[in-house]
Amino acid sequence: MTCEPANSLESAKAEAAPPACPACESAAKKPLSGIYRFTCVQCCARLVLSAHPDKRQASAMLAAIARFRESPSRADVLECVRQHLTKPPSVLKKSESD
Ligand SMILES: [Zn+2]
Repeated sequence: MTCEPANSLESAKAEAAPPACPACESAAKKPLSGIYRFTCVQCCARLVLSAHPDKRQASAMLAAIARFRESPSRADVLECVRQHLTKPPSVLKKSESD
């Protein structure tokens, strides 16, 4: 007979959690809302992306994020940034020809 704690069932309630970040929500409606939460990896990525492609400014953003105590790790932020950058730029259409 196994005597495992059954509380894993309790927390297994499948709930599609929304982003739960008001800054991300408002940014989805208004991309230039300028609201960022340093605790949210999506917000941090947006912040870095707002500086993109200025590498110096982007790294200044990353440094600012890193200074925040509860911020996501730099690697997480960069991963999120990369995901954004690999998406087809539908809104941010930069000059593609140099
Ligand atoms: Zn957010």
